Amino acid sequence: MNVLVVGGAGYIGSHMVRLLAADGHRPVVLDNLSTGFRQAVTVGELVVGEMNNRELVKQILSDYKIDAVMHFAACALVGESVIDPAKYYLNNVSATFELLEAMREVDVKRIVFSSTCATYGEPKVVPINEQTPQQPVNPYGFTKLAIERALSDYAHAYDFGYAALRYFNAAGASPDGSIGEDHDPESHLIPIVLQTALGQREQVTIYGSDWSTPDGTCVRDYIHVDDLGSAHLAALERLKLGEGLCVNLGTGNGFSVRQIIEACRQVTGHAIPAIEGERRPGDPPELVADASLAKEKLGWVPKYTEPAQIIKTAWAWHSTNPTGYEKRTEGSTVV
Ligand code: UDP
Repeated sequence: MNVLVVGGAGYIGSHMVRLLAADGHRPVVLDNLSTGFRQAVTVGELVVGEMNNRELVKQILSDYKIDAVMHFAACALVGESVIDPAKYYLNNVSATFELLEAMREVDVKRIVFSSTCATYGEPKVVPINEQTPQQPVNPYGFTKLAIERALSDYAHAYDFGYAALRYFNAAGASPDGSIGEDHDPESHLIPIVLQTALGQREQVTIYGSDWSTPDGTCVRDYIHVDDLGSAHLAALERLKLGEGLCVNLGTGNGFSVRQIIEACRQVTGHAIPAIEGERRPGDPPELVADASLAKEKLGWVPKYTEPAQIIKTAWAWHSTNPTGYEKRTEGSTVV
């Protein structure tokens, strides 16, 4: 298939583009490079532009005879969404509607959408299955839920076929270390811990050690970025016009902040100092997927089930690209 990957220069999108090409598809990337990187697009074509430019999107859909769209272009930081909700509603909702309308105008109706476990808010029961009420507790979660609802309406009214994939904690990198996670500022746990291993930070601050979890720190379900990608490939094959599929993507296993730091120590061989700090506002104590529906509907099983396996790939990226994409020097290695 010819697949338009919106946000394909970003962290998850850039891994997706490679998997699409390896699976025999033709990826075409549309990215405004606001948080993505030209160097992250290692196969296929890159068009630099805005997804809310309806004429541009229509042009790409026609020129490249696009069969389906994958949509990764979103702002995705919970804390930032609380401080600057307009940015989130404009990009994640308003611009996405322009994308959907461009698709509708040229009759491209297949879309795989990146949703999130943040649409569940703070669920009372863990592991979280898809029947759990979606009650977001921050603007980021609301924006993603808004698009899920719109896709359902577009499927019924306009015959769209969609999959909304609710990611848990995306982590890891390409095992060869050539592409990976690069955010500025970085807020995600594993990159922060690995930057500490590299000596770029003095210590890791554990956000809260008095949670009602086994070791007092927050528990998350870390899912490898290539496992997210393989689920997208499976979803792409199964898109049916007029129908939608909403599934969780996680391993089904939860690991605490302390367990992740310890796994990073094992993988890197570095001491990695950590101190206990305040809770981060908006953090639910435990988010773990019940991923059985994805297995059933997509025939999908994650390959990486242990944090150490995931961290090993993240370390391959961070240790060879200690300053990320912008200032990376080919072939440099820091260990
Ligand atoms: N976390 C932490 N210290 C950090 C960054 C994150 O203790 O410097 C915790 C955070 O509170 C959460 C978990 O690590 O419980 C994962 O956070 P991340 O930002 O990676 O993902 P989120 O779960 O917020 O999407």
